[in-house]
Amino acid sequence: MDDSEMELPEFAPGWVWLVGAGPGDPGLLTLYGLHALRTADVVVYDALVDSRILELAGKKARLEFAGKRGGRPSPGQPDISRRLIELAREHLRVLRLKGGDPFVFGRGGEEALALVEARVPFRLIPGITAGIGGLAYAGIPVTHRSANSAVAFVTGHTAGGEIPDNFDWQALAKGVPVIVFYMALTHLGEIAGRLIKAGRPESDPVAVISKATTPDQQVLVSTLRACAADAAKARIEPPAMVVVGEVVRLREALDWFTPLQKRL
Ligand code: SAH
Repeated sequence: MDDSEMELPEFAPGWVWLVGAGPGDPGLLTLYGLHALRTADVVVYDALVDSRILELAGKKARLEFAGKRGGRPSPGQPDISRRLIELAREHLRVLRLKGGDPFVFGRGGEEALALVEARVPFRLIPGITAGIGGLAYAGIPVTHRSANSAVAFVTGHTAGGEIPDNFDWQALAKGVPVIVFYMALTHLGEIAGRLIKAGRPESDPVAVISKATTPDQQVLVSTLRACAADAAKARIEPPAMVVVGEVVRLREALDWFTPLQKRL
């Protein structure tokens, strides 16, 4: 489909568009996301946004980095929200670009609330989240009829850096057949230990998917008991998704990406 065949919404000056960039592969960007990149005056982006996506920005666009880099402290969330408001008030088209989907462990809600409070008009463009798109590139369906009729998305890391404690681990371990963890690499051993203690079998299959959808994607298949040691041994690097459950076994038949990866 040609862009010209589709009516695209106007990106008006003074607006902020909160856009999900997807997990990495630029082809997974939405048409609205690409349109925003081509028309924005300023792009405020996070560390997780793939550099190939930033290259799609229009020539006049200014790129502003708003994440952690090289051990320097990241700008706090209020600082980023303040910056977005400031840029919008300069009558610019402000594109706030985030990895994956802005509303999935991406603090998009917090930024949107700050914009509402400041009466800055905004649009939200969803993106493909790593917990679904990243798994798809590993040949792992997030649901499969014979394996699971429920799935949970869980963060392995709170704002303070700890494993979250504000939900029932027992219920998660026993009641949810497929568990997809974001930000879980640092505490993988402890997370696996908690699930086992809460009643999950040690032999449950686990996949760790690093740099999903990029030419550097790496997938490790292991078990709940062995995954932390195996991930350390294989030197798996962040960002990575961790998925626990029977759907992991489908990778053996459904891995379509590895043969193509070398040609990316
Ligand atoms: N909003 C994002 C998630 C941000 S939280 C989304 O919807 O995908 C950051 C975590 O996302 C990382 O720690 C990692 O667990 C996951 N993640 C994001 N991009 C990834 C990628 N390309 N490969 C593997 N994991 C990824």
